[in-house]
Amino acid sequence: MAPAAKSGHEFLKFVNVSPTPYHAVQSIREKLTQAGFEQIHERNDWANTCKPGGKYYLTRNASTLLAFAIGEQWKPGGPISMIGAHTDSPCLRIKPFSKHQVEGFLQVAVETYGGGIWHTWFDRDLSAAGRVMVKTKTGFVHKLVNLHKPLLRIPSLAIHLDRQEKFEFSKETQLFPIAGLVAAELERQGVTTPPESTSEGGPEPDFAPIKPMKERHHPRLIELIADAAKVSSDQVEDFELILYDTQKSCVGGFNDELIFSSRLDNLEMTFCSAEALIESTNGSTSLKNDPSIRLISLFDHEEIGSMSAQGAQSNLLPAVIRRLAVLPSSKKSNISTTAYEQTLATSFLVSADMAHSVHPNYIGKYEARHHPILNQGTVIKVNANQRYTTNAPGMVLLQEVAKRAQVPLQVFVVNNESPCGSTIGPMLSAKLGVRTLDLGNPQLSMHSIRECGGIYDVNHAIELFRSLFEHYGELESKILVDNADEAEI
Ligand SMILES: [Zn+2]
Repeated sequence: MAPAAKSGHEFLKFVNVSPTPYHAVQSIREKLTQAGFEQIHERNDWANTCKPGGKYYLTRNASTLLAFAIGEQWKPGGPISMIGAHTDSPCLRIKPFSKHQVEGFLQVAVETYGGGIWHTWFDRDLSAAGRVMVKTKTGFVHKLVNLHKPLLRIPSLAIHLDRQEKFEFSKETQLFPIAGLVAAELERQGVTTPPESTSEGGPEPDFAPIKPMKERHHPRLIELIADAAKVSSDQVEDFELILYDTQKSCVGGFNDELIFSSRLDNLEMTFCSAEALIESTNGSTSLKNDPSIRLISLFDHEEIGSMSAQGAQSNLLPAVIRRLAVLPSSKKSNISTTAYEQTLATSFLVSADMAHSVHPNYIGKYEARHHPILNQGTVIKVNANQRYTTNAPGMVLLQEVAKRAQVPLQVFVVNNESPCGSTIGPMLSAKLGVRTLDLGNPQLSMHSIRECGGIYDVNHAIELFRSLFEHYGELESKILVDNADEAEI
């Protein structure tokens, strides 16, 4: 394996064990713990926990994760270099009442999450994963589950029965997975005729405010979840499960230069930012002379607009920055009442979300002078209408960072006649007033169930982010805008 592809292979391992945001957060937690990061909780006071030279992380809803390392030269009101990414991807989620049966087929009702290219979900071998709330002796506890096996499938209609040129379908009635046959399920249960509904007659069941789980979902689904959680079916109180493609992410291309994978958007940036934070703090010397805090914020719910308690629109990042801004330095120092505002004014946020590679079959869709290519480096995203936040001082900073890491960069701007995506960058920069830049690695087929990227770009982004963390403390004071009068030219 080419050494530059090593990080790409590591990423494939990560994405294969991270079918949901919960699993992605769990995988990152394991990496951070191994690298000596200590878990902290929002509900506790950190004043005596977080110290210069220390490394910490916290989670919210177990689907958003924030980690940081504090430079040993940190002073209250000091700068924070931040990378923001997201842990969620478009997917199908099992509905609260999912049990459905028609013409001898068992079916599981699902809800669309985010803006997926839904036709790519047809004819894939799907499984389910997520979290389950398990009843314990004293209360309820969240547990991760992954059913692993191909259990479900959304079958397309044979071409003989439908010769439509355009593939059109109802997301409510036709994007509807089958989960097996009624006959097989009855045989498993040892029943020869369908059981009568239990809701009429018979003994009065225990009062339940909502119908019991076994009536809302196929009992077999509850059993599979219970087995995966290693608990009994009766302990499954509720769950949030999403479907995923069981085909493993893999290396592709004539020369192993591509990645074929689900969830590149945005697990690739999640992975790269976490690796960069870990690598930048490995070894004893890196944090020694650093006056800054290095931070990653991996949010859930970007694909649906980020408006949730754990999304980028929440108070999570401002609340954490507020607490970090007043952390005392190792030598006793005065903490100003404006430490938070000073930190915001000296900090920088990189909003890291995947970008579009040029597509060889649709060249006309791209702006003629901005054609990012796979494996040619991370892409800076520019948009005059502030769908992306990048501006000239940010471009200068990032080029200085990239020079130090010796990694290439590319630039993307959307064709004036195309719609443009957006990221957590604009909302966070508006909320915080912090300087922000949008970037991401190039990929094809964004929001398809199976996307495509370049294997070498994984390493490009890690090196770039690592350089940002290692050099921001030094570069921050060198790029002057509102204090430009102070410069000697
Ligand atoms: Zn994204």
